[in-house]
Amino acid sequence: MRILVSNDDGIYSPGLRALAEVAREFGDVRIVAPDVEQSAMGHAITALSPLRYHRTPVDGFEAYRVNGTPADCVALGAHHWETPDVVLSGINLGSNLGNTIWHSGTVAAAKQAALLGLRGVAFSAPVSADYDPDFDQLKPYVREALTRILPNENLTLVNVNFPEDPRGVRWARQSVRHYDGAIVPGEDPMGRQHFWFSVKPVEAAEEGTDRWAVAQGLVAMTPLRLDLTDTAALERLPADVQ
Ligand code: MN
Repeated sequence: MRILVSNDDGIYSPGLRALAEVAREFGDVRIVAPDVEQSAMGHAITALSPLRYHRTPVDGFEAYRVNGTPADCVALGAHHWETPDVVLSGINLGSNLGNTIWHSGTVAAAKQAALLGLRGVAFSAPVSADYDPDFDQLKPYVREALTRILPNENLTLVNVNFPEDPRGVRWARQSVRHYDGAIVPGEDPMGRQHFWFSVKPVEAAEEGTDRWAVAQGLVAMTPLRLDLTDTAALERLPADVQ
């Protein structure tokens, strides 16, 4: 199995190294990742300037850095390595739960794989002022998630999120009831007003969702799809309108 590993934190992130080390147990690994951090770039592609693809040293791995977004990296990686079976993205330093996935570069790398007809799995770990992920502690859970996901060919796009101290894994749906994006005003050292696009805490999530599973100490695995059609709304509309 050919496994392309990417991320949005940049090619030298410890999370990417940890993911590649587990991935190597499942097949041949090649790393293609952004040369600098591209977090919150979503599914952006670089359409107005050229991309470069440079071999770069990452211990024990064939690795290439790209001056572009996560989606650029997966597209270039697939172009140069025909054809990866699966793209693994992460392990991101920061959760990608609920509506956060709309902004996520980590999930976008996996999504780009699905757009190319490949399979993609995104991995994210929480990070805060009080907590940094211990990637060695997470590795057995990366292994368990891959063992459950990879043999199931029906799973073309999966979003995996770790809690701080995992005690198991479970399938979960995306929590979409709340949005945690928030504009926070501030002031720079010269007294000028500025703004941060930040996040605010959201209320407890409903049972069975990714946010709920992680709050229970479980690794949340959420199958995603590319079809954004609101099927229920479509079915309520008259079929004969041209
Ligand atoms: Mn990131």
